[in-house]
Amino acid sequence: MDYRVLLYYHYTTIEDPAAFSAEHLKACKELNLKGRILVANEGINGTVSGTVEETNAYMELMKNHPLFEGIVFKIDEADKHAFKKMHVRPRPELVNLSLEDDINPHEITGRYLSPEQFLNEMQDENTVVLDVRNTYEYDVGHFRGAIRPEVETFRDTPQWVRDNRELFEGKRVLTYCTGGIRCEKFSGWLKREGIGEDVGQLHGGVASYGKDPVAKGQLWDGQMYVFDERLTVPINQVEHVVVGRDHFDGTPCERYINCANPDCNKQIICSEENELKHLGGCSIECSKHERNRYIAIHNLSEEFVEQQIKWLENQEVKA
Ligand SMILES: [Zn+2]
Repeated sequence: MDYRVLLYYHYTTIEDPAAFSAEHLKACKELNLKGRILVANEGINGTVSGTVEETNAYMELMKNHPLFEGIVFKIDEADKHAFKKMHVRPRPELVNLSLEDDINPHEITGRYLSPEQFLNEMQDENTVVLDVRNTYEYDVGHFRGAIRPEVETFRDTPQWVRDNRELFEGKRVLTYCTGGIRCEKFSGWLKREGIGEDVGQLHGGVASYGKDPVAKGQLWDGQMYVFDERLTVPINQVEHVVVGRDHFDGTPCERYINCANPDCNKQIICSEENELKHLGGCSIECSKHERNRYIAIHNLSEEFVEQQIKWLENQEVKA
């Protein structure tokens, strides 16, 4: 069966996000979709998967809805669902930026750049490219030479930019993110703060850039992190440079796993070999966790587990 993954957002005014969410969840379930959708007063942001027919029906439904006129869908082909369940959740904001004074992208936002324009402008000497995603997203793939803000989460990025203002002085600043939604606000914030000479944003995000027939994903190194079971997807159609590094030994790697400790769940880049050696844990505490799901799923023998834990403890002592 042929499946698709849809990625989309739309800034609009939704009066009652909770009521809308309940109704929208019903509609999605009737269409057999799976995925995650956030609904706020300021709009909607979602990723859903389903068959070609089901996703077509959903796009039709949304495009004909008076609130979502002009909504754009980014479509990935897939061979199965990218989620296990269907969630629609009301939220105070679509992207967690927690600004003291919020940005409405309908009032202020950066210049929209098509993938082709972005490819051209990013190569200009006086341009800096700013990644407005999280560091764990950057680490498995990013635009060549893009600035990586040293932050825990997206909402810390404004302060980081203020503290590193000199990087942007007199420059054209181009921002990018996965599907474009974070840039809508963030580029607006950059403009309001007066950061850089000129502020542009990659319209449709890297998801559109990788599919563009002219840009072809060029100057993107590595893979793109995505918020569904696929974890990463390819972008650059012309060349493939691996930038991800194995969590344990630093060797080139692009494989994301979730830590096997269900209370930790941290996503790390890790080879199959090292995953086995570390029993799927991101740290020795996680490897030893009593509910380690890697051990359970792979039916590892007690003997093997004991031997690996001994080996891990030895490694710790040496370090
Ligand atoms: Zn862990």
